[in-house]
Amino acid sequence: MRFLLTLLFFVVAPAQAQFKFDIHKLIDTTKNVVKATSDIGEPEEIQIGKDVASRLLGAAPLAKDENLQRYVNRVGRWLALQTERPDLPWQFGVMEAPQLNAFAVPGGTIFVTRGLVERMRSEAELAGVLAHEISHVLRKHHLKAIQKGAQTALAGEALNQALRNQRADVREKLVSFGSEMYTRGLDKGDELEADRLGVVIAARAGYDAYGLPAVLQTLQAMNAQDSALALMFKTHPAPGERLSALGETMQPTLDAYASQPQLADRFVQQVKVRK
Ligand SMILES: [Zn+2]
Repeated sequence: MRFLLTLLFFVVAPAQAQFKFDIHKLIDTTKNVVKATSDIGEPEEIQIGKDVASRLLGAAPLAKDENLQRYVNRVGRWLALQTERPDLPWQFGVMEAPQLNAFAVPGGTIFVTRGLVERMRSEAELAGVLAHEISHVLRKHHLKAIQKGAQTALAGEALNQALRNQRADVREKLVSFGSEMYTRGLDKGDELEADRLGVVIAARAGYDAYGLPAVLQTLQAMNAQDSALALMFKTHPAPGERLSALGETMQPTLDAYASQPQLADRFVQQVKVRK
């Protein structure tokens, strides 16, 4: 499996070698944010994520398309390997939903809707979106939001028991709260951070760094009243705002890695083949 992956992604790798040092530095500068949730161990983080993920899958099941799921997992795991948390049990799934959206669940489970995948034009765009979601997991954005929200809903000891899955009733509250969070969204600062870090990870994995901006441009060009965009627009800053924030902070990185491959043909072959 590992050999296959290496083989598959060899074609996107060459341009990355010469820039690797700089990219390392970029990642390191944003590395020290994790401490706030040091009281939640990685096993708890993973277990909370599993419970929340199965709740979310109750609302929209995975697409019954093995080839598509395999492909999205290959791209996602290749990206995750470039990060400081390569050993999480990363899993990527395409949800059977016409809406355009993507979610990250604590511990390394990432969902993207079929509606969003079908609006993309290249593997670099897919990588940009997955790398944004991977960044939420790396920075524990949802885990921190769940913890913060649950702190007000549950008293101290109950919260600990819920986090450690020691009491069914408070655990249920925690998981409900965690699932509802996907209809409310994260802080704007978390979203913009995930955009910046996502660009870095996609570049580091060997893709054209403009993949994520290209998807944001697609969203921006769509009718904002389109119901397929309702949840995405409710839970994320407007695409135009995200694009200008990226332009302000990441322009040199975007330009430095703009000539890396987009892999449009491979994407179309893997994703659009059934259309
Ligand atoms: Zn996000």
